[in-house]
Amino acid sequence: MHPFFRAIGLVRHYRGTLIACLACSLLVALLWGGNIGALYPVFQVILHNRSLPDWLDDELALRRRTLEELQAKIGQQPVGQQVALLNRQKAAEQAALERLMQLRPWVQRFAPRTAFGTLLAVMLVVLLATAVKDACLVGSIVLSARLNQLITRDLQQKLFSHVLRLDPAVFSRRGTAGMMSHMYQDINAIAGGMSQLFGSAVREPLKMVVCLAGAAFVCWQLLLLSLVLAPAAAVLLRLLGGSIRRATHRLLRENMRLQEVVLETFHGLQVVQSFGMESHEEERFVRKSWDCYRRAMRIAFYSSLAKPITELLGLAIVFVALLAGTHLVLNQQTTLLGIPFSDRPLELAELLVFYGLLIGAADPARRLSDIFGAVHSGIAAAERFFPVLEMQPVITDPPQPRSTGRPHRKICFDRVTFAYTDNQPVLQELTLEIPFGQTIALVGPNGSGKTTLLNLLLRFYDPLSGAVRLDEVDLREMALADLRSRIGVVSQQFPLFNDTVFENIRYGSPDATLQEVVEAARRAHCHRFIEEQLEHGYQTVVGENGSRLSGGQRQRIALARAMLRDPEILLLDEATSQVDVESEQLIHKALEQFKQGRTVILVTHRWSTLSLADRIVVLEKGRVVGDGTHQQLIETCPAYQRLREWTMLKSA
Ligand code: ADP
Repeated sequence: MHPFFRAIGLVRHYRGTLIACLACSLLVALLWGGNIGALYPVFQVILHNRSLPDWLDDELALRRRTLEELQAKIGQQPVGQQVALLNRQKAAEQAALERLMQLRPWVQRFAPRTAFGTLLAVMLVVLLATAVKDACLVGSIVLSARLNQLITRDLQQKLFSHVLRLDPAVFSRRGTAGMMSHMYQDINAIAGGMSQLFGSAVREPLKMVVCLAGAAFVCWQLLLLSLVLAPAAAVLLRLLGGSIRRATHRLLRENMRLQEVVLETFHGLQVVQSFGMESHEEERFVRKSWDCYRRAMRIAFYSSLAKPITELLGLAIVFVALLAGTHLVLNQQTTLLGIPFSDRPLELAELLVFYGLLIGAADPARRLSDIFGAVHSGIAAAERFFPVLEMQPVITDPPQPRSTGRPHRKICFDRVTFAYTDNQPVLQELTLEIPFGQTIALVGPNGSGKTTLLNLLLRFYDPLSGAVRLDEVDLREMALADLRSRIGVVSQQFPLFNDTVFENIRYGSPDATLQEVVEAARRAHCHRFIEEQLEHGYQTVVGENGSRLSGGQRQRIALARAMLRDPEILLLDEATSQVDVESEQLIHKALEQFKQGRTVILVTHRWSTLSLADRIVVLEKGRVVGDGTHQQLIETCPAYQRLREWTMLKSA
């Protein structure tokens, strides 16, 4: 199914609104055609200075005469094809006569007796009908806007919920900027296209259909002749639609790149400023925004072409009808170039109404050209958007999850090989066993795979080969919620939210009471500064990523958050990297107490932190190259010695 139809399918949840919207559009269309049809009695009055009852009587007399003539002709003809044709004509005339006879009592009773009165009555009816039509138009516009908003909300919620369940490997295929672009630009374009579709794109074609049906009622042969040019318009508009869709794809891509530049620069604003790269970033932004501008202008150009195409071809259609119809009326003929057009010569009033209806059909066609670009942009955005909803997380719960006792007995990395991208192994046949209750420190040069090891334990990724196990259970066999509820994490990759200190500590433990939050804060040695240094204590909002706090304060609140969950495994990734000496000592004190009765894995560059560890594991190029106490490693592990020399040199 085309992605745009999937978007349309969402509307089934709002059937009531859709039906009301379509009903309003239908009424608008009927009243639009009806108002133009009302020209007929007006022309009859103006051209012949008659009232409606007079016109009806004349019309009845004419039909009766025609019937008698037909009857006479049939009587004179021998039985054959000609008689069959005459009989058909007679039946049609008879039906028309009966319809008019039914109308007669109503017209006699209600219609004004003078030409002027008839004109006035028709005008009043048209005025009333226009008021009703406009009320329906308001209804149709408001209801289609409602659908637009509801669909936007639906799609945004769908995408948000979907992304929440994507693992990092799948998410990183689009990245934050990409997802933001799907969330806002794509969805806006889809909803914009849909609102046009359920509003103008239903209303205007309905108006066209009603007018064309009216024109066909007057003389369908003439209508067919006028529409010979319509396929040319259809082909041109189709080609144009393709160009708009392609240009929209490019624009959305460029917009995403622009968003990437913006997000990246805003996130790293201090880096940009400290390196004096403001002009460079400005240049990058300007270049990307010009790219977007060029793409947007191309779409504007293509969209603008729709109008002249419909206008020119619409005019040509009316001209064809005008030429042919005028020829028939002026010469009182019923055939053109040997082709029969009508049973009897057309009246001038009929021809004028026919033109009125054609123009009435041309106006919606012109309006349709306005929404043409919006609908095609919506189609292109849907083609981009829906594949994202189909992206499946690689990391999922097994059908029949297994579990292990709480607390676990050991964590085991068994010959684990892992790579983020093809051909670049980050962990190679890594084997490591950590018994429950042990605190281990992972050290190693940057890029040696320390954080990756934690990512595998949290099951953000699965190993390419080998297995990570909790006791004997492979993590892939465990329910994700079961696994992650056992683990607390303090890491720069797990920032604070722009909320109160209280809510940040309670994050992940939604049922925790204030007392429990305060207790966790005390254990993380942050209660004092929260009470004494923060203006509103636990109700202080910490700013984006805790920007209103110092590095040490942030770390301790993050530690309190992890501690509140009372995890059996605690992971600390560079937890003390940005902190002052006082905070570091407080964190150490907190960890000294908290690590009792849990497994703790510390990733650190700080030698002082190593004193917390029972055991140090040295990683290099994704392999364990040293495992033991500080003293053992100093004596036996060259990599550890290098690391120590380098760090001491750096801090000297
Ligand atoms: P460490 O924590 O020891 O500094 P990491 O585990 O963060 O090292 O990274 C190990 C290697 O994996 C590095 O070469 C890094 O560039 C790469 N890497 C880390 N995260 C990703 C990722 N999301 N996508 C691709 N490569 C990554």
